[in-house]
Amino acid sequence: MRFILFGAPGVGKGTQAKILSLRLNIPHISTGDILRQAVKDQTPMGVEAKKIMDAGELVSDDIMIGMIKDTLDSAKCKNGFILDGFPRTIAQAKAIDLLLNELSINHISLVAITANEEEIVNRLTNRRECRNCKNIFNYREIQDLESCPNCGAVNSFRQRDDDKEDVIRHRLKVYQENTKPVLKYYEDQNKLVFVNGLDSIERVAENILRATTIKNKLTTSA
Ligand code: AMP
Repeated sequence: MRFILFGAPGVGKGTQAKILSLRLNIPHISTGDILRQAVKDQTPMGVEAKKIMDAGELVSDDIMIGMIKDTLDSAKCKNGFILDGFPRTIAQAKAIDLLLNELSINHISLVAITANEEEIVNRLTNRRECRNCKNIFNYREIQDLESCPNCGAVNSFRQRDDDKEDVIRHRLKVYQENTKPVLKYYEDQNKLVFVNGLDSIERVAENILRATTIKNKLTTSA
């Protein structure tokens, strides 16, 4: 099975991708995570990407398209994948359409997770990451804890630089300008299903699976 998850930053794409990845036993491919690893490893791409990411801007289409080609072409994606964070521009959408065609992948579920802007700002400003295991927590859940409930690392919580409120507002603007047109591009082709991201985490996961199964049945019987 293959999925692309769309939605504004903070809508829960990463959380849902992790759940689906475990349930369906297919890899979660997050372009944001790949970039953050490159930043950590201080690769030339990472050094270049860091400033752009910290400012809430988009990394260039050339870099991103090259990255996604290498990843989807790799052995780990042979039996399926859940893509989170790509495509974010029309140029990236057209590139992945071509790539899927080249790889003879003709079935992929496209899911847009929705939520209003204030909820997103609220979620992201309260988001904390464990430096050690990279798990994401809500500030209210961990504010009194000294160590990470997942890996036990002490004093390891941090706020991502791009989760500060001014950067979040900018990321949402970038999303409206660059990524909303991508949703319209796929909606016009009747390829997209919408799922309400304000439901509980479990309900959102169920709805993604249900909506994509129904859509697949309709598509294959049409
Ligand atoms: P994310 O974790 O998906 O919110 O991504 C974090 C940051 O990585 C974004 O704000 C962008 O700066 C960069 N990024 C991730 N995916 C892409 C993409 N497909 N195109 C451009 N920039 C990206």
